[in-house]
Amino acid sequence: MDDRLRAGYPHIYAAGDVASVFKPLLGKRMRSEHEDNANAMGRHAGRNMAGDDAPFDYLPFFYSDLFDLGYERLGS
Ligand SMILES: Cc1cc2nc3c(=O)[nH]c(=O)nc-3n(C[C@H](O)[C@H](O)[C@H](O)COP(=O)(O)OP(=O)(O)OC[C@H]3O[C@@H](n4cnc5c(N)ncnc54)[C@H](O)[C@@H]3O)c2cc1C
Repeated sequence: MDDRLRAGYPHIYAAGDVASVFKPLLGKRMRSEHEDNANAMGRHAGRNMAGDDAPFDYLPFFYSDLFDLGYERLGS
């Protein structure tokens, strides 16, 4: 999959848990199996399908809650 979220076949894009993409800020290709990434990637893939031609360089964050405690981590 390339940085435009094209999956390697004409007119096919991928986003979310199934999609691995190179993260320039982290210097590696990775899948991010978290909600924020799925939402951001889905919006980005939709815009590129509709005619934009922008690389996906979003740095996602992960959140989780355990009873009264919550935490967030950037870049995962
Ligand atoms: C128990 C659990 C807890 C989680 N907790 C957190 C959390 O605290 N924070 C966080 O950021 N993320 C969390 N996640 C991860 C988050 O839910 C996922 O990263 C996110 O839902 C991924 O979205 P997605 O659209 O890529 O995939 P999904 O949400 O899995 O959506 C894929 C959809 O495709 C459908 N589908 C599959 N195959 C087909 C097919 N052949 N034809 C048609 N439809 C199909 C599925 O039914 C599903 O509705 C958690 C996940 C789990 C399982």
